[in-house]
Amino acid sequence: MTDMRNKTPSDIEIEQHLARQALDRGMFHRLLPLLRPIRRQILAVIGIELLLVFTVFLRPWFVRELLDKGLVPSADHWLLDERLVLWLGLGLAASWLGRFLLAGVSQFIAGRAAIRVLNDLRVKVFAHVQALSVSYFDQTRAGRIISRADRDVDALEPLLVQGPPELLGALLRCGLAAVMLWRIEPSFFYSLAATVPLLALATWRFKRVSQRNWAKVAEQRSRFTAHLVESVSGVRLIQQCGQEQTNQARYRRLLEDFNQALIHGSLRAGWFAPFTALLSTAGMAVLLLVGGHGLAEGKVSVGQVAESLFYVFLFLGPLQELSDLFERYATGSASAQRIFLLLDTRPQVLDPPSPRPLARARGQVDFEHVGFAYAPNSPRRVIDGLDLHIRAGEVLAIVGPSGHGKSTLVQLLTRFYEVQSGAVKLDGIDLRELAQHDLRRNVGVVLQDNVLFSGSILDNLRLAAPGADAARLVAAARELGADEVLERLPQGYHTEVGPLGAHLSHGQRQLVCLVRAYLADPAVLVLDEATSAVDVHTERRIQQALRRLCQGRTAIIIAHRLATIRDADRIAVVRHGQVVEHGVHAELMERGGAYAALYEAYLRSAGEVVAGALV
Ligand code: ATP
Repeated sequence: MTDMRNKTPSDIEIEQHLARQALDRGMFHRLLPLLRPIRRQILAVIGIELLLVFTVFLRPWFVRELLDKGLVPSADHWLLDERLVLWLGLGLAASWLGRFLLAGVSQFIAGRAAIRVLNDLRVKVFAHVQALSVSYFDQTRAGRIISRADRDVDALEPLLVQGPPELLGALLRCGLAAVMLWRIEPSFFYSLAATVPLLALATWRFKRVSQRNWAKVAEQRSRFTAHLVESVSGVRLIQQCGQEQTNQARYRRLLEDFNQALIHGSLRAGWFAPFTALLSTAGMAVLLLVGGHGLAEGKVSVGQVAESLFYVFLFLGPLQELSDLFERYATGSASAQRIFLLLDTRPQVLDPPSPRPLARARGQVDFEHVGFAYAPNSPRRVIDGLDLHIRAGEVLAIVGPSGHGKSTLVQLLTRFYEVQSGAVKLDGIDLRELAQHDLRRNVGVVLQDNVLFSGSILDNLRLAAPGADAARLVAAARELGADEVLERLPQGYHTEVGPLGAHLSHGQRQLVCLVRAYLADPAVLVLDEATSAVDVHTERRIQQALRRLCQGRTAIIIAHRLATIRDADRIAVVRHGQVVEHGVHAELMERGGAYAALYEAYLRSAGEVVAGALV
């Protein structure tokens, strides 16, 4: 395994580490189960391929019959057996027609089978990605995942569906042609057999080089896709910082790397096609020589030499197809390995084998000597032996300087990350004993970056209450006092929110998220910086909504704007990943400790803001 500490690992090394697998592991036994649902179609395509081979082998026979029996020598000239020629001509035409029809049917069946198997694989990759732990997404760039689920899956089609029947057809044509040549004249067969070891050696070499090349190409492609995706999602920041040129230069460099990999790969594998072509030409020349010799010696007829030339063509032709087939094999297997690397990555947070049932929690939360770092080997812990006990129904505010671990507590309470020491408990049950689904149903979170999905406001609210009708959703907004702001939107509750809610204002997004949390009705509600940067009117609405939302449940509020949490039942101050103080506002102010210092600093900065606004 890669040593992750000594150097900065590449993206693919990080993934190999996460999947605990090497990229170049065998994968055929893993591809076979994917083909199980389309085994009938594959058998049908193989059957058709056999028939196609049969129609191909009729042709040399027709030609031989035509030459040896259609033209009958009579005294000093040749007589044409018109009846026989007509029948042979019709037979030849029928064999061509059959070939085209069969090829069409085969393509249709293979195409449908491909759609099915690739669709299944896409769904499997998607489901797997969705189930991965949040820490995976911290380390893996979105574009890489997209490249797997899209391009790499596409690249499997020729390998999985069309490849095997085509390979079978090629091998059959080759083998049958060899048998036929042997039957006509063994020396014809021997003269061609010399090409086989040469070809086997070249194919083995080509396969190795080509597979490595395609793995590099796929890797480079996923890098520029990752950059593209990051540029799209961060376009505002790029424009704001005037980084368009630099960013474009970086994209160009990544494209150049990709092109280099492509060119380098083609150069290293490009010799195979000309080599097989050369082998074919040499084989043909040898047979002409040997055939001419046999004709002169009277061992074979003209028709048999002509028939043999067909067989030589059928024997050597597939060799050239092989180069194309192996190229596809190399691309497909490189992609398959990358997909399996993703599928092998196990979620770090798993449900226990038999989770403790928890329908509706009372809402008691305990952090007991919790220790945690995002990088498990890191000597510095983000949460360092933290103890915090929150009663059911209590409204607890967590405050503290930036970067000292407040939001991390939320991540641990929702079990997006696993504690490394100590325990987090809900109603006295260690979170590791609960099913994640039960836990997240009971712990609702409204985050700093409120994210909505594309769709209308109603669609977004329905995420929390899938069975609820529009009237119920609107009523919830009304109960929370959010309706006034939301109804004023252009299409009211039917307004499209845009990608990730971009068409709504910050405050509108927050209100939608609060209503969503209200509809979900969790026993514990966590509000992380839920009241920031909105106008006074919306802020009042949000505060009102918050108070209503906190009623009857445990609420944990993480806020910098200390004025909003003065009424909390209790305030806990977190510094360096530990609770250094807790109590009610007045008590903490009187103590003159960390909280009092924070509060005074907050008042000073708030005063400066107001004074600045008045100037
Ligand atoms: P703020 O008040 O600014 O939101 P916070 O107290 O909530 O800060 P956290 O977000 O919990 O602070 O972060 C605590 C520490 O953990 C920081 O040093 C931060 O850099 C680090 N950290 C946070 N998230 C991650 C992550 N996903 N991966 C690695 N480190 C992280």
